[in-house]
Order: sequence, then structure tokens, then C-alpha cells
Amino acid sequence: MSTQPFVETIISLGSNIEKERYLPEAIRLLRRNRRIEVRKVSRFFESAPVGGPDGAPDFFNAAVVACTDLSPLELRDELRHIEEVLGRQRSEDRNAPRTIDLDIAYYGELQAEFDGWTLPDPAAGSAPHVAIPIADVAPTWVDPRSKKTAYDLMLEVDASLESVKPVSTIRLATPYESRGPEEFDQSGDVYAPQLESIVRAQLLEIGENPDREGLVRTPLRVAKALDFLTNGYSTSLSEVVNNAVFDGEGADEMVLVKDIEFYSMCEHHMLPFFGKAAVAYLPKGKIIGLSKVARVVDLYARRLQVQERLTNQVADAMTEILNPLGVGVVIEGQHLCMMMRGVQKQDSSTVTSAMRGTFKRDPRTRSEFLSLIGGR
Ligand code: ZN
Repeated sequence: MSTQPFVETIISLGSNIEKERYLPEAIRLLRRNRRIEVRKVSRFFESAPVGGPDGAPDFFNAAVVACTDLSPLELRDELRHIEEVLGRQRSEDRNAPRTIDLDIAYYGELQAEFDGWTLPDPAAGSAPHVAIPIADVAPTWVDPRSKKTAYDLMLEVDASLESVKPVSTIRLATPYESRGPEEFDQSGDVYAPQLESIVRAQLLEIGENPDREGLVRTPLRVAKALDFLTNGYSTSLSEVVNNAVFDGEGADEMVLVKDIEFYSMCEHHMLPFFGKAAVAYLPKGKIIGLSKVARVVDLYARRLQVQERLTNQVADAMTEILNPLGVGVVIEGQHLCMMMRGVQKQDSSTVTSAMRGTFKRDPRTRSEFLSLIGGR
């Protein structure tokens, strides 16, 4: 990670080719970028194209508030990359229809000239299709040039508000706010169109009929489930720990959290493995809220994994957060790729361990840990 502090930015989005697909997809890719933390998403707005060819399709526009430690140029590169992934063809015609257009509208209070672009984006204070979504997502945001709020700028650029209208039928899926499984299966969601079409193709490949009743919404459900099960990619350790490290002066006994349930997916077959983790450390002045230990395990479990790496990552994370005298992690997992296929040893479980500091060097510490978790 760079040492640059987090900056609050507003990113504006527009699409007029398959906009129902690409606008949500772009937001999803922003979400999954580890250096961009999407805080808030506007409603979608529909507007006629400005200066485009006759008969060009209407646009969907939106804006997101995001925090990032990327510099403006790095952030712009990331946005260009997302545009490429989503099939944007850049052409000479600045008004040509596009799958997706991502621009930095504001980067904190920065006012700067770059090679061919400016911050803030001048359109944020002059174009209704940019200003209105921004006012929707961050009405009290203050434009550093005019010192006016986004809400006031919106009123100025389009007093009638006739040309840009919210799209009421297509709203963002709730999981953008809360990605828990309880939010699954909202009807009418547009969620992850590319992933959904891949799942649909997969159903065809295995000889299924993706249009039969039970499967119609399966690609959507699979996409949401996969997003949830791999949300470790888009979460950072500091987000998880979130100020739950405390002064533990005088605490010199081993701290152990055991029987932490975890669910992960093996990277070889993308099949689940699951089980229990035990995490212990010997404090050196710092302690952490016990519930956070389970969150640290989740952070690394919710990715494609091998159990050995998961074990090591948890140990290294605890070391990074607490700088303790030592850390011990033992994970016992059952792998569906072994249980359902291949060798079919249904009762077998795999035990992995990672020892750091005194847990590695001092046999007594290690055996105290192992006896506390059940004498393995
Ligand atoms: Zn496997």
C-alpha cells in the first residue's frame, strides 16, 4: 500500500450501449477494486445524448462517492482499465455511443490541470447529466471552484430538471449496500451481467436448459453468491480491524480464540472447503477485540484459497496488526473436492498450522497452545 492518505472522490458514470448491463457492471468492478472503496451510489438517471449523432440512444448516468489512496492519475488509469474490460472503444468522436464512460468528477478539494483533463471535471458544474447524479449522491458536497454545494449547482445547471430523469424501474441491487446472503433474490435486479451470461453458458455446456423455470434466475443467484463468497478480495485488513486494537498493557497471557467456523473455496476446483480455525497470540502491549479475530479469518477465507496459504495469511495478519511476541494458527478443514469427487475419502480432514515468534521458537508455548485447542 502506498502511504498516501485516503481521499474522498466522486466518480461519474455514463453508458448508452446496453446501459442496463454496463452501468451496474461498472459499479461492481469499482466495488471489487481493492484500492477504491465505494461509499455511496446515486440513483440511475436517464438523459438524451448531448451533441451525439442523430438517433443515438439515451444515456444512463450515475455517480458514486468513493475513497481511495490512488493518486488522480492512478485513479484515472484504473477507470480506463474498467472501461477497457467493459469493451469501451475510444474513438476520435468524443460523442460516440459507448458501453461505459468513467470520469473523476471531484478528487477531494483538488483543483488541477492534467494533460487534456481537469479536476474538478468542468462538466460537474455545467452539464445536467453529470451534476444531477452528483447532487443525488452527495448534495452537500462543496465544489472547490465555486464554493457552491452540489445541490445548488444542480439547480443552476438545469432549473427545470426536465432533461434528466431518475430511472425508477432499474435501481441498484440492494447487495451493493449490504452484501450479506439475506439480501439475495430481490426481483428485478440487474447485478453482474457478464458473470451471469457466463453462468448461463455454463448451464448450456453441462446440458441444462437455462430457460426452464427453476434455472431462469440461477445465473443471477450464482453471481451474487460468488460475490459474497469472494468478498475478501475487495476488503482490506485495516477495514476489518477498524480501530479495534487496544492497549493491552500488562496482558502477558496467551489469548486464544478457537472453534472459529470458516467457509472457503479451493482454488483448484472452486469447490467449498470449510471447518474450524484456532488463532492464538502472546500480546506485547496490544490486544484486539475477540470478534475481530473471526473477521480476519473470514477476510482470507472468502477468496479462492488453498488451506496452507489461508493459515499463513491469518498468522501474518495477526502479526501485522498486533506485533505480538508470537502467533499460532491451526486450521482443520474438510474439502468437498476430496469428499465429492476424486479419492472420495469422506471422513478425512486436513490440518494445517502456522507458528510465528515464540510459538515457533518455544516448544512450551507451542504445546500450551496445542493442548488448549484439544491436544493435537
Ligand atoms: Zn480442490
